[in-house]
Formats: sequence, structure tokens, C-alpha cells
Amino acid sequence: MFDKVLIANRGEIALRIQRACRELGIKTVAVHSEADREAKYVKLADESVCIGPAPSGQSYLNIPAVISAAEVTDAEAIHPGYGFLSENADFAERVEQSGFAFIGPRAETIRLMGDKVSAKDTMKAAGVPCVPGSEGALPEDPDEVLRIAKAIGYPVIIKAAGGGGGRGMRVVHTEAALLASVSMTKAEAQAAFGNPVVYMEKFLEQPRHIEIQVLADQQGNAVYLGERDCSMQRRHQKVLEEAPAFGITPKMREKIGTACAEACKRINYRGAGTFEFLYENGEFYFIEMNTRVQVEHPVTEMITGIDIVQQQILIAANQKLSFSQKDIKLSGHSIECRINAEDPFNFVPSPGRITTFHMPGGPGIRVDTHAYQGYMVPPNYDSMIGKLIAYGDTRQQAIARMQIALSEMVIEGIKTNVALHKELLADAAFHQGGTSIHYLEHKLGIATK
Ligand code: ADP
Repeated sequence: MFDKVLIANRGEIALRIQRACRELGIKTVAVHSEADREAKYVKLADESVCIGPAPSGQSYLNIPAVISAAEVTDAEAIHPGYGFLSENADFAERVEQSGFAFIGPRAETIRLMGDKVSAKDTMKAAGVPCVPGSEGALPEDPDEVLRIAKAIGYPVIIKAAGGGGGRGMRVVHTEAALLASVSMTKAEAQAAFGNPVVYMEKFLEQPRHIEIQVLADQQGNAVYLGERDCSMQRRHQKVLEEAPAFGITPKMREKIGTACAEACKRINYRGAGTFEFLYENGEFYFIEMNTRVQVEHPVTEMITGIDIVQQQILIAANQKLSFSQKDIKLSGHSIECRINAEDPFNFVPSPGRITTFHMPGGPGIRVDTHAYQGYMVPPNYDSMIGKLIAYGDTRQQAIARMQIALSEMVIEGIKTNVALHKELLADAAFHQGGTSIHYLEHKLGIATK
């Protein structure tokens, strides 16, 4: 096992990783920007290294600074968390070339999954169901492009191979608009991602976002930990997540989960990962794979009892998974609300000092946050300041506990989206379950008119 791990991230996930390390008896190194110097998790870590000024380009994204910090502190492994360098194949490669273990998949896997065309080709070949679309990248020949769209059927969506974060996509409803849309998406993709390659998919009208969590060790074993429903989104950003997903039967779960675990074995996957799917009319359609821990991993931990971050570390330390698929039992229901420092209805970020901070508790309540009374939320980073996670024997009980927890939560000095979550938890369609990825925006549109 590692003696010391460097955590190349900030905020709640830096604290989450630190806790996992401490439970495993591993010493931690926190790296931080000048803006995060006073953060609680920085002080709680065994060692800390300032890696640059507040802008993330000069600190959390500064590869040489992160690697030097690992060298001077004599860390053995680096955990990248989510965001920042977590899906940067060059970083993973440099980490390993410098003699450290990267707590994540191999660089080549990150690269393969980072290009959506190669990711989709790989998954298709591995038997994972994908959205019907072009065979790989769209060709240059306009007649060919028109023919492909016709075969798929309108509406179609043009997507950049190098896209991410919900950018680099365009929906096309008619043949008349197709070629101009393809050219525009290509030009935008070149400008934004330095890669003009685009591909085409059938545009699904009312899908849900359902994803499968996997773990794969270096001995060739892979398991799935069930699914999460992350359909409550605004601008492709997840707001609330839950596990299991409403209406997914054990049989459906086993079928899609097995396909994902088998794909992991086939691509020699290492560590934790997530297969993201759009789900419509009873069918799963793969859209992308995230090769890192996800913000919403706690809901899966709550219903499986498996600590995903610890598993990432154990796998990176070359340990074999200590359980097999048949040992994994899903029990109960869990919901996570992302708590953001922002206006609850117009979503404008609200950084600043937290003057009052009371966190809820009680049965089935988990709070993952690095914030505290007096904490200054810096304006430089993502607005998420924590996650409120509720667990219950049933979905109904998880909802009730979440409602109580939200009513107990007091954060003053900055604006937060707690009010939005309260509305969502009282929403009739949410109670019913199974709303599509458009539901929240639709609801907000109506609410603000
Ligand atoms: P990114 O990496 O930018 O998040 P994804 O491929 O995961 O890109 O797609 C992001 C979102 O775009 C999806 O969650 C969904 O809302 C929408 N989307 C992507 N592909 C399709 C599709 N074929 N049909 C309908 N919506 C889609």
C-alpha cells in the first residue's frame, strides 16, 4: 500500500480523498493555490504545497508544479479527483513517467475515451449499445453527409469528437439546415477544441440520463455498482442525482451492467469509471465514458456500502478487488443535492464569506463539504461548495429525509441553491420519478415566466 498520496484537487473532493486515505492509513499531501491557502482540508493534510496563484491555469492545471510537489514531498501516488487534470491523458502519462502511480486509468485509456469518436467505436465493438449514428467521423462529401442523416432520420445531432462540458453540439431538424450546421459545428470545434472532427447521432427527444458505475482492477476483474439517474440538469450540469434509477428492473440493470463490466475487461480498464447513457423507451444508448471519480459517486456508495475512492486507491496500488459481482447488493435509495454558491433561480455565482453555516444531520444524512462558518468561497473556481446526501430504505424515505435536511440547512452570507432543491423535492413529477433531461429547464422556464 502507498505510504503517501498527493491530492491534485481542491474543495470537497480534496477533503473526500483525504478522508479515504486516512482511513487506509495513508499520509496525504494537499496542493493548493494562493486562494485556497487557508482551506480546512489544506490544514488537515499531513503536508501541503502551494502550487501557484489563484487562476487554475497557473495552479491546479499546472502539470510541472503538481509533479514537483509530489517530488519534494516524496509522495508515491497522485489522485486527480474530478475536473482539473483528472481526464488529461498527458498528465497521467507524465505522472507515471516521473515514477508516481496515477490513481486512475492508463493514459492510453483516457486518450481513447477522451475522443468521442474513438470512445463510441470502442464501445460499439465491445457490445455496449450506442446511439444510432454515423460510422465514426462524418465524411467530407456533402452528398454522403445528407445520405447518412436521411438514413438515421431527423432530428439529428452533430457532435464534436473533442467536445466536452456540453459544448460542441448542434441539433438539426431539417435537411435544408444540415450542411450549414455541420460546417458551423466543425468551425466551432476547431476553435474550441483544436479538432474539427464531428460525428452525427440520432437526436433523442425525451431521454433520461442514466449512468453505470464500474470498478476494474489490474488483475482483469471488473464489476458494476448499479446505476445512477442524473436527469435533473440545467445546461447539461447535473443538479440532483439518485441511485437506483426509477423504473430500472434488476434484469435491465444486470444486462447493461454486464455489458459495461465486459467492456472494461476488453479495454483493460483500470480503476473507477462511469458509462453515461441516454435512456429512452426502455433502451440504453451510450454517449460517453468518464474515466475518473464523479461528483455523484456518494449515492452509489450509500446503496452498495462500497467506498469508491478507497477502491480507486487500492486498485492503483495493484490490489485485487476483494469482492465479485455476486457480492454486490443494492439496498435502499439515495439522493444527492449539489449545494452551489449561486442564486437559486438565475444561477449567477455568489462567492464571498459564509457568515452562518449550520449543517443538518440525523439518520441517513451525509454532508460532504469543505466549507464552514467563516469560510471564504473564492470567485475563481466552480461554485459547488458541498453535497447533501440522503439515504432511506425506500425512495420515499430518502425524499422525506432530504426534505428535512434541507429545512435544517442554514447558509448565510452568500446565496445558495438550497431554495431550488426545496422546490424540486416538493415537485410532483419528481415524486413520481423518471423525468427526462429537459424537465428541470422546462420547469424553470415556466417558473420564471
Ligand atoms: P459532454 O461531454 O459535452 O457532456 P455528451 O456526449 O455527454 O457531451 O452529451 C451531453 C448532453 O447532450 C447529454 O447529457 C444530452 O443532454 C445531450 N445529448 C448528447 N447526445 C444526444 C443525443 N444523441 N440525443 C439527445 N441529446 C443528446
